[in-house]
Amino acid sequence: MAARKIAVLAGDGIGPEIMKPTIEILKKVGEKHNEKFEFREALVGGAAIDGVGEALPKETLDICEGSNAILFGAVGGPKWEKLPPEKQPERAALLPLRKHFDLYANLRPAIVFRALADSSSLKKEIIGDGFDLLVVRELTSGIYFGKKESGADWASDEMKYSVSEIERIAKVAFEAAMKRGKKVTSVDKANVLNTMVLWRKTVEKFAKNYPEVELQNLYVDNTAMQLVRNPKQFDVLLCGNMFGDIISDEASMLTGSIGMLPSASINDRGFGMYEPVHGSAPDIAGQNKANPIAQVLSAAMMLRHSFGMEKAAKDIENAVESVLNKGLRTGDIAKKGEKILGTKEMGKAILKELG
Ligand code: NAD
Repeated sequence: MAARKIAVLAGDGIGPEIMKPTIEILKKVGEKHNEKFEFREALVGGAAIDGVGEALPKETLDICEGSNAILFGAVGGPKWEKLPPEKQPERAALLPLRKHFDLYANLRPAIVFRALADSSSLKKEIIGDGFDLLVVRELTSGIYFGKKESGADWASDEMKYSVSEIERIAKVAFEAAMKRGKKVTSVDKANVLNTMVLWRKTVEKFAKNYPEVELQNLYVDNTAMQLVRNPKQFDVLLCGNMFGDIISDEASMLTGSIGMLPSASINDRGFGMYEPVHGSAPDIAGQNKANPIAQVLSAAMMLRHSFGMEKAAKDIENAVESVLNKGLRTGDIAKKGEKILGTKEMGKAILKELG
C-alpha cells in the first residue's frame, strides 16, 4: 500500500520537542495497523524566518500541497515579536495555511479525562468522571469575513452565510456525531439575526439526512450558560465562526489543561491541518518540560479525520488514557508532590502502552 504522506511542520519553541515523540507514536501505530507513513519535514514560523527569511516558504507550501495531511507544532516566540505584525510567525504562516487550503471546519474536542477531573475549573459534582465534547466551528466565513466599513462615528461588520456554507459545516458536525454520541447541538441566535434564521432552517433540513442523530437548537447565550452548568449534556456543538470562537475557548478552558488539547482544521476533501491548541511555550522550550499529549492527540485526530483510521486513532487515545490512569504526569497536569515526567519520558510511556 502507498505510504500516506504527512507534512511535518514542527515550528518553534516546544514544537520540535513534542513533535518527536508524536512521530515515534505514529510509526508504532502504523506498524500495528499495517499502514505506512512518509514524514516530510519542512520549516515554518520563526524557524523558517531564521532559515530562509520568511515564515511560510514556498518549499514548505509545496511539501504541504504534495502531502495527505499537515501535522503542525506551534510557531512564534519573543525572538520574532519585534517584526512587523504581517511578518510575524503566527500571522504570516498559520493564517495563510488555513486560507490556502480552505480549511473551513475547525474541530476542537474538549475532553476531561477521568484521571484529571480534578484539574477542571468546574466543581467535581458537575464534572463527575469527566466529559468529552467536540466543538465544530465554521472557520472561513461569517462575520469575520464579511464586508467591513467605518465612518467618523460608526462602524459595521457584515455577517453573511450561504446555504452551501452552512450545509458543508453541518455535514462535518453530523458525520462526527455519527462516530460519537449521535447528538448535535446547533448554536445560533435565530431570535435576533437573519443569518441565524437561515442557519437554523438549513441545519434542521440537513439533519433529515442523519435520522440517527438527535438535533438540538440552542441560542448561543444559553449554550454559554449550559456549558458551565452541565457540560456533560453535550456531544457535538455546531457553531458559526464567531460563536464557535467564543464557545470553543470556553469549552476548552473548562478542561483546565492547555497541554492536553488537540485541534483539527479540515477542508472539503478531508485534507486537514492538525495542531495543539496551545502555542510554542517559550518559557519552557528546550527543557524537556512540555506535555506532548496535545500534539499526540492531534495526530490521532489526523488518523481519524484525514485517513479514516478510526481504530488506530482510538489506540492512541486509549494509550494516553492509560498513562494518565497510571498516574503519570508532566508538570502542567501534576498535583503538588506528584512525580513529574519530562516530555521524552511521557512520550516513551505512551509508546509503551501501544505494545
Ligand atoms: P502558550 O500556549 O505557548 O503558553 C501559555 C502557557 O501554557 C505557558 O506557561 C506555557 O508554558 C504553557 N504551556 C503551553 N503548552 C504547554 C505544553 N504542551 N505543556 C506544558 N505547558 C504548556 O501561549 P503564549 O505564551 O501566549 O504564546 C507563546 C507563543 O506562542 C507566542 O509567540 C504566540 O504568538 C504563540 N502561539 C502560537 C500558536 C500556534 O502556533 N498555533 C497558538 C498560540 C500562541
